[in-house]
Amino acid sequence: MVSPELIDLAYLVASVLFIMALKGLSHPRHAVRGNLYGAIGMLIATVAVMLSAGLDFTWIIVGMVAGTAAGIWYAYSTKMTAMPQMVALLNGYGGGSSLLVAGVELTMHGAKQSSMELIATAVSGLIGAVTFSGSLVAWAKLEEMKIAKDLRLPGQQALNALLVAACLALSAALFYHPTWIVLYWLIVVVSLVLGFFLVIGIGGADMPVVISLLNSYSGMAAAATGFVLGNNVLIIAGALVGASGIILTQIMCVAMNRSLTNVLFGASGGGGATMSKQEVDAVYATVKSTSPEEVAMMLEVASRVVIIPGYGMAVSQAQHAVSDLTEALMEKQITVEFGIHPVAGRMPGHMNVLLAEADIPYELLKEMDEINTTMEQCDVAIVLGANDVVNPIARESTNSPIAGMPIINVDKARTVVIIKRSLSPGFAGIPNPLFAAENSLMLYGDGRHAVVEILNALQGK
Ligand code: NAP
Repeated sequence: MVSPELIDLAYLVASVLFIMALKGLSHPRHAVRGNLYGAIGMLIATVAVMLSAGLDFTWIIVGMVAGTAAGIWYAYSTKMTAMPQMVALLNGYGGGSSLLVAGVELTMHGAKQSSMELIATAVSGLIGAVTFSGSLVAWAKLEEMKIAKDLRLPGQQALNALLVAACLALSAALFYHPTWIVLYWLIVVVSLVLGFFLVIGIGGADMPVVISLLNSYSGMAAAATGFVLGNNVLIIAGALVGASGIILTQIMCVAMNRSLTNVLFGASGGGGATMSKQEVDAVYATVKSTSPEEVAMMLEVASRVVIIPGYGMAVSQAQHAVSDLTEALMEKQITVEFGIHPVAGRMPGHMNVLLAEADIPYELLKEMDEINTTMEQCDVAIVLGANDVVNPIARESTNSPIAGMPIINVDKARTVVIIKRSLSPGFAGIPNPLFAAENSLMLYGDGRHAVVEILNALQGK
């Protein structure tokens, strides 16, 4: 058996690597290195845990083989476009495993657990279960499943408060009766219901806030389980995930002009009234369409072009074609920039990751506030598979799922070309008057295909 000092040293090295990983991940230029540090740290932590106590490896190996096989199958069978859903599920599994480990520890050593360990056990059960059920609902919403449509019961806030109170009462009871294991599983059941209701009512523009919050919860649940097990590296790793998730949540709230309490307790981002087909048709009465050749001619005479990518760029995997188009335009001395909305796509940083994958220089990517100050000086704005993040309804309406959300003001550009397959709505499910604006032209088609055709026309092929 390896000495405890050596194990502690390994934990320390792993923890330092986790911190270096977070630092590395803060910028695309060193993100790959950051990722590597994190992976090495996790390997060291896992090996150290395995060597630390006199463990029976039989079930551990069975679990590892089954988990690895399922993980490899799942990762390979998941399309790139379904990555956000996969991330949501993995978050949920983190919460689920934390609550299971804390539950097993309580069953085996409950009678001997200290006050701190008992409190940590209850916290792990509560946050772990909220993370698990909340993440499953988030996954279903990202899959755009009908059963996960926004649902808010009358008196929902009172019901949520009641569920929290029940969890606290059960936790207090567990504290005084640590051998009554059933109390722990009751905390888990009540928290699963709480997690479901906390997320099912949230929709439209508020989803990114919830996703980063669930990410943070999974870290907090892991840290609590670290206290239950007395495992320092789990406490540190969990705290890092919890803290960075909270910072990301705060960034998302500020970017979306939302307050966290409003998102969680339903005071913003309401479903809004659904429009009839006639009303939608009226919004789109003056839509004009264009062709790749016409767009190429407009680009030819432009001096500044701004590309606004959205979820459709991810679906069509258009980033490499966009990179080629950017290069061709820059060769013609045309300034090209990208307007990146903080919630474009389906996960935080989605567009940045795709554009970095296609080697588009990071300096060309401008955040929403920066690009908005110069939209009037833009000759052609190309909206590539984006919809909600450029929808002027957000500025004008108070009764829509995206009301109050800051958008990229593409309508201020001289000409706007919108590339998408149809007039279908985006994630928030509402029509977009931008498509019918006087300076807008629709280029219908798959994002990648359309960009390739524009490029061919530009190069006279
Ligand atoms: P969006 O509003 O969901 O619109 C995406 C558009 O892409 C659709 O209207 C669709 O129109 C088009 N599209 C789909 N496949 C395409 C293809 N192959 N080629 C071309 N176009 C295609 O996307 P967004 O503007 O990026 O806004 C993101 C939305 O997701 C926001 O409401 C945000 O709150 C929400 N959300 C974001 C996150 C996050 O963390 N970023 C997480 C959860 C939810 P067609 O079908 O007509 O082609």
